[in-house]
Amino acid sequence: MQLLLKKLIEKNRDWVNHGKAANYIPELNKMDSKNLGVVLVDTGGKVYRAGDYQVKFTVQSMSKPIVLLLALLDNGEDTVFKKVGKEPTGDPFNSMVKLETLNPSKPLNPMINAGAIAVTSLIRGKSKEEKFFRILDLFRKISQNPKLDINMDVYLSEKKTGDRNRSIAYFLRDVGILEGDVEEILDLYFRQCSIEVTCEDVANMGMFLANQGFDRGSGKNIVPKYLTQIVKTFMVTCGMYDASGEYAINVGIPSKSGVSGGIMCAVPNKMGIGVIGPALDLKGNSIAGIKILEDLSKELKLSIF
Ligand code: GLU
Repeated sequence: MQLLLKKLIEKNRDWVNHGKAANYIPELNKMDSKNLGVVLVDTGGKVYRAGDYQVKFTVQSMSKPIVLLLALLDNGEDTVFKKVGKEPTGDPFNSMVKLETLNPSKPLNPMINAGAIAVTSLIRGKSKEEKFFRILDLFRKISQNPKLDINMDVYLSEKKTGDRNRSIAYFLRDVGILEGDVEEILDLYFRQCSIEVTCEDVANMGMFLANQGFDRGSGKNIVPKYLTQIVKTFMVTCGMYDASGEYAINVGIPSKSGVSGGIMCAVPNKMGIGVIGPALDLKGNSIAGIKILEDLSKELKLSIF
């Protein structure tokens, strides 16, 4: 396995020259777009690493499925899906175009920014700090890394430049989807996106979903299986932005990407995979990361279809 991962990194490394690191959050543009790393964790907890797997990066949109899990635990399906739909959009992740044309004005799914902000608004806690701590605590548990924390530079950079997310959030309050203090909800969302991880953390998070909510740390199921199924289904239908259909055909693994260039994969009952490759394609996915996953899926027959 180790050799295979190494071979796939070498084979696909040139792809990093065909994309660019995100620049709409200035701090993300400082990432080295030449990096490419992968970590795979199997059900027995065995870890395989290759390439620039030690690189640190922020979870960005890979936070969306995990915060959705917490919102579902906190509120149940009925409350969550009153605020956010279950359908793919075919539009970019930060698009606002359908918000006004759809009736009712409800974000189409929890993997786009509008839907994710609505989901974050449902996290329970007496204060902003308690809400964020509950999010961070879940990330720490499922990544098997009690030291996870936010990258302050990325958080402040996104908070300063997040006008599009701000517009989405204020619109959502106007139409009654968001309730309460919009700036506080946005702050929580920017924080969740800025949690800093490595490929191994992400592979463990994917493994948690692949393992139907079983927490290796405590040896217990900490999330009901059916909730992990809901989240993985969103990862299939909407996890790779508006390239989710093509990715499902070519890779076929429930996955979520982030604009940092990370991809979190959950191969049901088999393994979790974490990839980093900050050079993005035009849809915002790691260009070399996808190539590695296409090869890996074929070599190991990982497609769920
Ligand atoms: N923090 C990013 C944003 O809201 C997340 C986007 C992403 O990773 O897709 O724009």
